[in-house]
Amino acid sequence: MKFETRAIHAGQEPDKLTGAVSVPVYQTSTYRQDAIGKPRGYEYSRTGNPTRTALETALAALEGGRYGLVFSSGVAATSAVVELLRSGNHIVAGDDLYGGTYRLFEKVYAKWGVKTTYARADDPVAFRRAIQANTRLIWIETPTNPLLKICDLRALAEIARNANIPLAVDNTFASPYFQRPLELGADIVVHSTTKYLAGHSDLVGGAVITSDRASYEKIRFFQNAAGAVPGPWDCWLVLRGIKTLAVRMREHEANALYLAEHLRKHPKVSRIYYPGLVSHPGHRIARTQMHGFGGMISLELRGGVKAVNRFVSRLKLFILAESLGGVDSLVCYPPKMTHGSLPPKERLRRGIKDNLVRLSVGLESREDLLEDLRRALA
Ligand SMILES: *Cc1c(COP(=O)(O)O)cnc(C)c1O
Repeated sequence: MKFETRAIHAGQEPDKLTGAVSVPVYQTSTYRQDAIGKPRGYEYSRTGNPTRTALETALAALEGGRYGLVFSSGVAATSAVVELLRSGNHIVAGDDLYGGTYRLFEKVYAKWGVKTTYARADDPVAFRRAIQANTRLIWIETPTNPLLKICDLRALAEIARNANIPLAVDNTFASPYFQRPLELGADIVVHSTTKYLAGHSDLVGGAVITSDRASYEKIRFFQNAAGAVPGPWDCWLVLRGIKTLAVRMREHEANALYLAEHLRKHPKVSRIYYPGLVSHPGHRIARTQMHGFGGMISLELRGGVKAVNRFVSRLKLFILAESLGGVDSLVCYPPKMTHGSLPPKERLRRGIKDNLVRLSVGLESREDLLEDLRRALA
């Protein structure tokens, strides 16, 4: 079955009892058991809920994985993957990461004896060199946040396989419509479903997808034991979102490409980051591993922080807010917002300059969006 069909049908058969075409929201904490030791498949909604099962099945199908597990946020999903490790283990991660992932590694797991080394995201050799005897996880995002670097997924999967270390990919920016890391050799995919999968800026959620049974069993144990599960209503909203994922992503990308091509030549823009532009250093690799380039653009503005403040305050359609991937266009200032948890020196070392802004291009008319940006830059 093709992607669009899976998005609408996988895990979402009409309800057995009533024939309801939309998966019901099973708003219940517990389930009647037929006799002691004879539940009908569900016992308690932390452990399992039918609306959640539908979402987990659908997400696994979209990523081409065997198992899906959902969480109450993207960072809860990330943490469930790190929990595969034990004290003394080591992570090699890309150096351009969601700020909250960096914070989780450095402020939560480091104190339990899980240390992380950061390798240049777009240099697979740097990952190989950073591997130690105790490395038990390679963690990347691609395209990266906020610099939209492209990691070579096939090269990293080979390095991981040769070293016998699982490769986990945060696929939030691309969404499974544009990129399916498991098909390219990754072992685990993580999502913040908050973003493109839900797609309407109306909830916070996360997911883990894998085809490896042992990892799945451990992560599922942790999901139930630690309990960061989403409620059935949030699961339903993500299910509703993914039904239109394909059409939304095509439109996000067409809008982003249109804006990137216009902004590239704008005199107030000193640098533009969009993997769909031929001039982007990762463009060639992106073409081989992605089916599209997504809806995120980053810009460096001439005139430093002052220019950034002026630009952001003049925008009318692009809303100044954290997050991304919704129908509404957002603008974000990574140094103070998504990446505020990085120390300034660390941030600059990673190439996140003070004049960087990030755009999440929504589904409004692309002409209106361009007009908004032009007016704010003028
Ligand atoms: C937002 C985001 C996360 C964290 O997800 P939450 O749902 O906010 O917890 C992780 N990775 C990426 C790339 C993100 O954009």
